[in-house]
Amino acid sequence: MKTVVTGGAGFLGSNLCAALIARGDDVLCIDDFSTGNVRNIVGLKHHQRFAVMRHDITVPFTLPDVDQVYHFACPASPIQYQRNPVKTIKTNVYGSIHVLEAALDHAARILQASTSEVYGDPDVHPQPESYWGNVNPVGPRSCYDEGKRCAETLFFDYHRQHGVEVKVARIFNTYGPGMNRDDGRVVSNFIVQALRGDPLTVYGDGRQTRSFCYVDDLIDGMVRFMNASASVQGPLNFGNPAETTMLELAETVRNLTGARSEIAFRPLPADDPKRRRPDVRRARVDLEWSPKTDLAAGLEKTIAYFDALM
Ligand code: NAD
Ligand code: UDP
Repeated sequence: MKTVVTGGAGFLGSNLCAALIARGDDVLCIDDFSTGNVRNIVGLKHHQRFAVMRHDITVPFTLPDVDQVYHFACPASPIQYQRNPVKTIKTNVYGSIHVLEAALDHAARILQASTSEVYGDPDVHPQPESYWGNVNPVGPRSCYDEGKRCAETLFFDYHRQHGVEVKVARIFNTYGPGMNRDDGRVVSNFIVQALRGDPLTVYGDGRQTRSFCYVDDLIDGMVRFMNASASVQGPLNFGNPAETTMLELAETVRNLTGARSEIAFRPLPADDPKRRRPDVRRARVDLEWSPKTDLAAGLEKTIAYFDALM
């Protein structure tokens, strides 16, 4: 199988590249290294079935022969995607069009890494795929949320209009080895802060929830989805339904690291979703997929990864 992974030097993309190489694919990683890291793919760099193309997908490009495209290129951490919001929208809209055109040229199947953010600050719990969401179109998160919603539309329109085989995965908060120390998302922040003995920065009152999925479970879901029947298009939710507050997460990280860090409360960012939890029944039925790693087990592996980096 000839496979392209856009965003292949990022957190999820690099874990995906490693899994695809391990199952025997030829993998081309396309990345502009804006939030990705060469360190993430250093172990693959000299593999004969692995290649890297440094490219910004907002600029048109052509691809060599390809069977499957995993489209992961886009900053995912709020502080990263808000740094240059216009670029974030361009990446999601122009970038997705360019990747879809490349898939169309080669009659390749293409999977979109969409997000739970398409549900915005949801008022339905847990969130099923049939829920249309509660998204602010003009707030600081909109460049990402609306960009990803537009990308989903493009995927389904390329399918309806041009017959492209598409798959849309709505990924809920995923964590694990491969995240950057300065990524800015909560799991990496808390672990790095705990390992340094710094205060853990809890935004707002810490009672907002997220449901955290370990990266290996997520990657297993992506590969199953890509290789399932063409009729399984999604959108499909992928995540771990175990819901936790940020205060509980901080406490768990403190316990697992043995840190004596204090909690430092910081202002809640605008439009921060209050609750988030995936309904993953569809992925269970369509793909026989469900997450296997509980939070403590996943955090232990992630702590070991960051410990080795520091
Ligand atoms: P990440 O920031 O670690 O990885 C994104 C990668 O895309 C980086 O390597 C970056 O350099 C690259 N990139 C960004 N803009 C680009 C451009 N214009 N051209 C080429 N490359 C570009 O983030 P991640 O957590 O690995 O997320 C990967 C994908 O999964 C994103 O599309 C994100 O929206 C989606 N996702 C992730 C999560 C999660 O919890 N990790 C949740 C929902 C959706
Ligand atoms: N958060 C926090 N401390 C941090 C970073 C994030 O309390 O140092 C909170 C953030 O306000 C949000 C939750 O943790 O409520 C998850 O944030 P993250 O940026 O990881 O992902 P997202 O908001 O996109 O789900």
